[in-house]
Amino acid sequence: MNDFLCPKCKDHLRVGDHIIFKVKNNEKKTALLLLNPQIGNYTSTKHPSFIIKEGEFLEFYCPLCGASLKSDIHENLALVLMNDEKGNRYAVYFSQIAGEHSTYKTTDDAVHMEGEDAGRYTYFRVGDRFKRYF
Ligand SMILES: [Zn+2]
Repeated sequence: MNDFLCPKCKDHLRVGDHIIFKVKNNEKKTALLLLNPQIGNYTSTKHPSFIIKEGEFLEFYCPLCGASLKSDIHENLALVLMNDEKGNRYAVYFSQIAGEHSTYKTTDDAVHMEGEDAGRYTYFRVGDRFKRYF
């Protein structure tokens, strides 16, 4: 089972089969959004009163410490940390644009891309070195 951690407080964002985030839309409405912990699976769960429009920017926050998860690589990409069952550690970047399927699982010197829109952020070049978060 992969664990997901906030890059700021390092607390656990995964509960059961969901990663839990707080999100905020352009109208400053906030909600909890549950994502699938399987990389490349873009199903999500939310309360029906929170409407997400295709192409809308949602800012992701840690529900524990309240920090914005916006990455320093691109404002559209959020960052979480992942530990897999073998003890490997990754920085995982994903798009905060609703409906945009781009996820990048990175280690020090490698990036693994997932999602049909992953080519949009082409400044991710295989072989780039990524910052250590652990
Ligand atoms: Zn946090």
